[in-house]
Amino acid sequence: MTSPISILLYHRFGRSQDPLSTPPADFERELCWLADRGYRSLTLDEFEHGIDHAGSADGSKRVLITFDDGYAELASVAAPALRRYGLNGVAFLITGECPTGRDRGDSANPNLNHISWDDARKLASEGIIEFQSHTHSHARWDPDSDGTRKLERDLATSLDVLSDELRLPRRTFRHLAWPWGLCNERWERLGRSLGFTYQHIVQRGAVTRPGQTIRLPRFCFDGASTRAFRTWMTLLGLPAGAAVCNRIFGTIRTYRQGAGYV
Ligand SMILES: [Zn+2]
Repeated sequence: MTSPISILLYHRFGRSQDPLSTPPADFERELCWLADRGYRSLTLDEFEHGIDHAGSADGSKRVLITFDDGYAELASVAAPALRRYGLNGVAFLITGECPTGRDRGDSANPNLNHISWDDARKLASEGIIEFQSHTHSHARWDPDSDGTRKLERDLATSLDVLSDELRLPRRTFRHLAWPWGLCNERWERLGRSLGFTYQHIVQRGAVTRPGQTIRLPRFCFDGASTRAFRTWMTLLGLPAGAAVCNRIFGTIRTYRQGAGYV
């Protein structure tokens, strides 16, 4: 028996038709299902330790609950729901999008779609949500043609902003979620050189390989029905199920992105 680690991914919460959006009641039901079945949400420290033992035989039920883009519902929907079930999560922020206090008070076009740094600091200090990088600009770089200079500047800026705004040392930020899950080996090396030891993509599957730190598969459950969520999570909880998912969806991802990179 082996014990995969599932990484869940959400973006927005609301009732809109936005495909990135999950109704809050569905999210609540999914957290309830996890809690009822004895799943434990990992902190990043636990994940980094546990990842060395992914595929080990302890049989524990572990998930990493992640959120991309840093929408304001992190504070209004996600955090209160996590609190109710004794769970915690990780948010990957587009650091150029989060409003400061001045943006909210004075700007003619305040960005209220994204979580403020004040709220992020509060959630981080409570230990409900940890914050990591989803780049500074969320630009859609082309892995085939874009060089590394502008990417390096963008990633370094995201580190600076996270460190400044959350008042934590840069070494706190070791996890990077690639926008759209797009990356290649060159970019992965660059990310590692800046301190992003752990790099996440978007792919149906779970972490089964001990010591895996890059191309960590995150299963996007945006707008999934509760029934689909339960079915997938049950499948991913089975070592053979996770391995089959990784193989099938890893192949599809490689095919979609082209033969030149994955
Ligand atoms: Zn994104």
